[in-house]
Amino acid sequence: MSTDTTAGEATTTSGYTKAQAKALDAKLAEATNRLRAAMGRADNAANDIHRAAGDKTGYFHGRRHATWELSLDDAIDTARRVAAGQVDVLGNRAAGNLRNAPHRATAALHARDIALEEIAAAHAVVEQLEQVWRDNGRWSRFFMVPGGHIHSSTACHTLHVTTQIGWLPDLSGESEAEAVNAYGSVLCTHCFSSAPVEWTTKAPEPVDPALCPGSKNYVPGANLRLCSPRGTCPECGQTVSVTSRGNARKHEPA
Ligand SMILES: [Zn+2]
Ligand SMILES: [Zn+2]
Repeated sequence: MSTDTTAGEATTTSGYTKAQAKALDAKLAEATNRLRAAMGRADNAANDIHRAAGDKTGYFHGRRHATWELSLDDAIDTARRVAAGQVDVLGNRAAGNLRNAPHRATAALHARDIALEEIAAAHAVVEQLEQVWRDNGRWSRFFMVPGGHIHSSTACHTLHVTTQIGWLPDLSGESEAEAVNAYGSVLCTHCFSSAPVEWTTKAPEPVDPALCPGSKNYVPGANLRLCSPRGTCPECGQTVSVTSRGNARKHEPA
């Protein structure tokens, strides 16, 4: 997406200011984190419900990882009965003290209800803020895998579902050049296919002044039949060690 930085008033193509874009995306990043945290609490509560229902983990239905035996719906049904005092439904499967079983079931069910409400609230905020973005020209956005590459969306197919990805809301509405300026040549080549190659993860490594510039380059006429193949570096004229493909190994200038 192109941005207009010629005038003093820095605006995106839609007229939404960069400051507005950054402020909105900062809120969105926060809401996304809230959503993720609430989903984590809902998962924990669901596990507590399974325990309160006397459920056990195991390798069921030929699965290769351990799962609960009951479905969540069945575990909730059982936990509700336990919460109502019908501890006999647990049989000999009660986890821990039977006397505390109704209390544990009540607490787990309550924790899940709270978490589901938090999920709904955070989700509504995320949806509302995403709509503002859709309605205002879909300004540029940048996301970064910690210690990794910068992507233009969390939907990039090079990312695994489990990859933790962070927002860079300070860069929202900015150009790719600004992102490179702030974080270096780490743009994802898939997300930024039109960016100059030197801004992307395909950027050549910076030249090391301690090495001959012929290092790693092809050496014409190298003798690859030797035990340790070698040839004459066209840059420095030294006899250098080469790889099996005939590329000069790292070496110092003459
Ligand atoms: Zn990407
Ligand atoms: Zn050389």
